[in-house]
Amino acid sequence: MSLKPTYKQCHEFLGTPLDTIRGVGPRLVEKFAKMGVFTVEHALYTLPFRYEDRRRLTPIAQLKPDCKEIFVGEVLAASEKTTSRSRRKLFEVIVGDSSGSISLKWFHYRKTWIQKQYPLGRRGIFYGEVKRFGAIREIHHPDVDFLREGQDPQSLLESDPLSFGRILPVYPLTEGLTQKTIRKIWKQIVDRYAEYVVAPLPDEIRKRQNLMPLSDALRRVHFPSSDSSLKELEEGMSPARRTLVFDELFYLELGMALKRRGVLLEEGHAFKLDHIYTKPLAGMLPFRLTEAQRRVLGEIKRDMMSPHPMNRLLQGDVGSGKTVVALMAALVAIENRTQVAVVAPTEILAEQHFFQFQGWMKALGLGVVFLTGSTPTAQRREILQQLKNSTVDMVVGTHAVLQDDVEFAALGLGIIDEQHRFGVLQRACLRKKGKHPDLLVMTATPIPRTLALTVYGDLALSVIDQMPPGRQPVNTKVIVDQQRRQAYQTIRNELVEGRQAYIVYPLVEETEKSDLMAATEGAEFLQEKVFPDKRIGVLHGKMRPADKEAIMRCFKAGELDILVSTTVIEVGIDVPNATVMMIEHAERFGLAQLHQLRGRVGRGQHQSYCLLIRSHRCSEDGLRRLDVMEATTDGFKIAEADLEIRGPGEFLGTRQSGLPDFRVANLIRDGRILEQARQEAFSIANDPGFLTSDHYAELRQALKDRWGDRLELASLG
Ligand code: ADP
Ligand code: MG
Repeated sequence: MSLKPTYKQCHEFLGTPLDTIRGVGPRLVEKFAKMGVFTVEHALYTLPFRYEDRRRLTPIAQLKPDCKEIFVGEVLAASEKTTSRSRRKLFEVIVGDSSGSISLKWFHYRKTWIQKQYPLGRRGIFYGEVKRFGAIREIHHPDVDFLREGQDPQSLLESDPLSFGRILPVYPLTEGLTQKTIRKIWKQIVDRYAEYVVAPLPDEIRKRQNLMPLSDALRRVHFPSSDSSLKELEEGMSPARRTLVFDELFYLELGMALKRRGVLLEEGHAFKLDHIYTKPLAGMLPFRLTEAQRRVLGEIKRDMMSPHPMNRLLQGDVGSGKTVVALMAALVAIENRTQVAVVAPTEILAEQHFFQFQGWMKALGLGVVFLTGSTPTAQRREILQQLKNSTVDMVVGTHAVLQDDVEFAALGLGIIDEQHRFGVLQRACLRKKGKHPDLLVMTATPIPRTLALTVYGDLALSVIDQMPPGRQPVNTKVIVDQQRRQAYQTIRNELVEGRQAYIVYPLVEETEKSDLMAATEGAEFLQEKVFPDKRIGVLHGKMRPADKEAIMRCFKAGELDILVSTTVIEVGIDVPNATVMMIEHAERFGLAQLHQLRGRVGRGQHQSYCLLIRSHRCSEDGLRRLDVMEATTDGFKIAEADLEIRGPGEFLGTRQSGLPDFRVANLIRDGRILEQARQEAFSIANDPGFLTSDHYAELRQALKDRWGDRLELASLG
């Protein structure tokens, strides 16, 4: 009787180094190391990135261009040639069967060797991608296996079942490795070790989700059975792959669920609603909250009233009205005699938040201070004092607020505006500044749901999915540089109606000047040549904060018609009377930035316009981005497109996101599986016995093995 190995033993087997595998010597070990493959487990999770269909032999006459085909043929002719145009040497072999013939070509070869390989009459099984040039079909650098004299092709197919008669895996390679080698070694590894890949996933989940055992899934992904659907395999939709993806995402979400639960179990502030400030604020607002704002505010208040800390993400498109929601939450905290910290990733953003909050806070008789890295020392000392002895209710600032010597008398609520920067660390930092304060994370950039669930998986999600009433979609047009007159005409028309316009230039950098019209030069040009009768102001990143503020105030008061600017207005500025956003060199901006910029208009009753000026030389991706902008104003659709164009790594920007690398899952493709995995994971994590019951011991161990300390799961012990 053989004993089934325990989960732990299995895990150890999988750590077996590769040099114990037959045929793997020091040379191969080195090559695999280059691919990041050191153990059997690494090899098992180095999956094919595509497949080749070598199941059936095709008669030569039926070989289709642009397809990878496999066929038997006999050498009819073989000779070295020179191409007529580039005078390059090549070796050509014509092979045929009873149905027809095809040309095989090599551009890199050793002549004596290749001539010996292809004597007239030799037969073989060939494999390669068929190309068509005019009426001629040919294959470059085909794979071949020769038949012995008189050998039946079928017997060869059967004698090398790894290369023929099946759907073949194609792996990512490093230099000096061939598909044949890796296939041979991977086959051994899969045959011998796949059985040790076990997932202590509860049976009911496996059944409900239609998952196969992990070891079977691995076997099938590496070496699909002949009756598999090639289409499913190529689209990454095979049941085997789904099993692997589910498994991977399940552990990620389980980790997130536990993190969330860990925070939820802590003791926090149980705030009471006594409306001392929220009610007067509601009375002062020149509008009614939208239904979405009220719903989200309800969710936030419910969290704040609970005795456990809030850990919530507030997501809403540009202009959806997050600020007022955050302000309401802040007032609840202040009513309960605690303090509020608002942290933004850049000085400009922090400043804009400060002005927005300060307006209302002052009206309510409450104090706010502003703290950044450039706050003068004396002033800083005073601010720290005020926060410490509770003479001020709110601080708005940058990461400077997170520094060690910034102490609060009683921090009740932290609000983090993360834009498109994701940092787990900042959240932890802020949390430490109070006794389990509530936390509200805001993102102005919509994140596709799949990413939100992974990056912010431990947060509860509130979405403002409705715009304030009366907003019309911004009319967006891409205009080629030479036709910019059109854009000026649109601006002129709007100014005549009493509206205002933004014109944005990419950068004020000396080095870029030769290339781009900088904002200041742009403004001079516009003033002299295009709008001599209009009032034009300039705003750029290098100006002193007071000067910036003065310009913004003028524009807001309608004392300027056109605000020429660098991207400093990307966020936060709010002038409903501005109806045109013209962006120079629009192809240079990322989608998120363009969306933010466009969000500066369309804030009032009037139809607004976004004019994207592009140069005639514009990259492929640049064009795609501009197309997306023209096609939709929906921030979530734009974010999805952005994710697709750039891929998750780029989209999130560097590794600081804290997002683990996925071995199998693809966030663009696997959103649905992620949702399912998340649901199952959260329901398990909410089982009160999860952390202690023996029933889950292996699952807990597996979770630790998967994510180690990356998820900071102290509770797992
Ligand atoms: P964002 O979500 O981009 O931070 P803001 O909070 O800056 O958006 O709000 C955008 C604009 O919409 C502001 O002028 C704000 O005063 C206004 N606003 C917010 N909520 C409403 C509402 N319910 N009705 C009308 N206007 C609103
Ligand atoms: Mg805002």
